Amino acid sequence: MKENVIWLVIPCYNEKEVLPETSKQLRDIMHGLINKGKISENSKIAFVNDGSKDTTWNIITQLHNEDSIFTGINLAHNRGHQNALLAGLMTAKDYADAAISLDADLQDDVGAIEQFIDKFIEGKDIVYGVRSTRATDTKFKRGTAHAFYKVMNFMGADTLEDHADYRLMSKRALEGLAQFKEVNLFLRGIVPMIGYETDVVYYERHERFAGESKYPLKKMISFAVDGITSCSVKPIRMITTLGMVVFSVSIIMLIYCLVVWILGKTVAGWTSIVISLWGIGGLILLSLGTIGEYVGKIYMEVKERPRFIIEKVLYEEK
Ligand code: UDP
Ligand code: MG
Repeated sequence: MKENVIWLVIPCYNEKEVLPETSKQLRDIMHGLINKGKISENSKIAFVNDGSKDTTWNIITQLHNEDSIFTGINLAHNRGHQNALLAGLMTAKDYADAAISLDADLQDDVGAIEQFIDKFIEGKDIVYGVRSTRATDTKFKRGTAHAFYKVMNFMGADTLEDHADYRLMSKRALEGLAQFKEVNLFLRGIVPMIGYETDVVYYERHERFAGESKYPLKKMISFAVDGITSCSVKPIRMITTLGMVVFSVSIIMLIYCLVVWILGKTVAGWTSIVISLWGIGGLILLSLGTIGEYVGKIYMEVKERPRFIIEKVLYEEK
């Protein structure tokens, strides 16, 4: 049987309150899976310390010294959740057959890890964790989160609703991810672009085990803006559409104003002012949109995204 080296990748920022419990639960699960023969004994639990200001790194070092299943990756300074996650995944790619990313705060149900691995053994390359309920979230968080996905999808950043960053990616999916060289990386938008066979695992989202959320509303909004502007040029295209609408209105206004003027029901100067107001407004928006289209093209070129990822080649030497 093929040995499955699985890495758990956990970004940590000031998580000293949760790490002792998280590490204990994860270790039990991983040792259980190793004993069952489902995963290789070379599997690791990798904590990525995202420049924490508390004793997080000391705890990680201590865990590593006690049990070699724990691995630590220390970032030189705080680079944010997405970058810390990427650092972990890109390290895992060189050692593991698959990596599962999850949060340090036990909000992602660790009981689902086995299901992820089962799907991987079945041959899936990307497995998304999707939360089945949001019962533990406040009404406000639920509402804002729903609006978040709606706006994101409308703006052209295709994301899976209620999927955070709890997911499994196989080695080749990670290698695909590595080809996306962009600096502003929005993982949830990029991963669906990689392709391959995917599946979903449903899990219950728990409350944060301890400590506090590092994602207040302000950060969530900037996360959404980042997600949209790093995945799509749809906002620019909306300017073009708006320009066309305003310009069309200006033509209707032109006809209307001329009719009123011919009928002689206007104050002197009104016609020319109203026509030029709409006409010039529409032209400006249209021009901005046109320039925007080119800026959007340049933006996409600069990203140097892979143009394709080959899944399989059927070829035989005679
Ligand atoms: N995190 C990180 N760097 C940051 C902020 C957060 O690595 O700058 C980690 C954090 O330690 C946690 C995960 O990202 O493991 C998710 O953060 P949090 O639980 O605060 O977000 P929420 O669940 O409230 O959305
Ligand atoms: Mg959390």
